[in-house]
Amino acid sequence: MPFRTLLGHRTTLALLSRAAGAGTLPPSLIFAGPDGVGKRAAAVAVAQALNCPTPVAPTDRLSLDACGECPVCRRIDRGLHPDVTVIEPGDTGSIKIEVVREQVRKTAFKPFEGRRRVIIFNDADNLVDDAQNALLKTLEEPPPGSVLILVTAQPDRLLATVRSRCPIVRFAPLAPADVALWLMRAHAVPEHEARAVAAVTRGSLAAARETAQTGVEAVREAARRVLATVADARDPRARLEATSDIVGKGKGSGASERESLSTHLHALASLLRDLGALGTGSAASVINVDLEPSLAHLLPSFDAKRTLRAFAAVDRALGALDRNASPKIVADWVVLNL
Ligand SMILES: [Zn+2]
Repeated sequence: MPFRTLLGHRTTLALLSRAAGAGTLPPSLIFAGPDGVGKRAAAVAVAQALNCPTPVAPTDRLSLDACGECPVCRRIDRGLHPDVTVIEPGDTGSIKIEVVREQVRKTAFKPFEGRRRVIIFNDADNLVDDAQNALLKTLEEPPPGSVLILVTAQPDRLLATVRSRCPIVRFAPLAPADVALWLMRAHAVPEHEARAVAAVTRGSLAAARETAQTGVEAVREAARRVLATVADARDPRARLEATSDIVGKGKGSGASERESLSTHLHALASLLRDLGALGTGSAASVINVDLEPSLAHLLPSFDAKRTLRAFAAVDRALGALDRNASPKIVADWVVLNL
């Protein structure tokens, strides 16, 4: 999809568009940012802008953009263009050295039919160390005509030698308003529900889609259950049982567990904020109005001091998740500290 159809990231996309138009795009790049905010889509848009034979200049900010409709653009979108390759981690969850060697070999030849060969490594933090080492020389002196883009939510897991050779383009979480709009347009989610989902999914489309499917009600209910479980539980074992309510249920992938926990932590924060409001008698500022009766039930266990402490624990847990701590450990820690 061309730059102009992507969600958010206006400044970043404008920079990429300008660099692609001026021929100043660095030949090796890292696209870093949270899961599900559109980094991979932006990399594909770069490939289209570089190869579309009939590009457009849709706005002042986007000086070069793919037409999005010609056969070249369509084939890039479908993953069928010979010069644009998106490499994904295999069944093992990693990208092996053989795959990298094959791509490096390709860069020795001129692009087959397009103007620029673009190789996108999605979830590039899954490149095994050998594979990253095999890429070093190509990243340092990319053959003319080739652009390599490493897409990752965890740039710190790339070797320092790889990071030092690639300028990093950072993608921020999407604004809640953008996420809500996307849910409404692309998934026909009703507006009030879309806004509620966007409020707890921290700018990730992947997390938003999942929450919209599970239902934001289910997420809030899980968060309420956690507070009810820990309310009077002094025994750590009883508290730890609440963990399974907020961490992804056996989905396997670390990214999806992290997103699921992050969504639940935001729901917890939202309920704790409401408990604080109820505790200080400002019921008018309660957000989860429909849950007010069950929150009032929890009030005797959550006085102002505990609510504040629990809120700080949720905040710290979200910070730890950002720093790539294990979702299971973060979930255990947070239920012990509520
Ligand atoms: Zn085109």
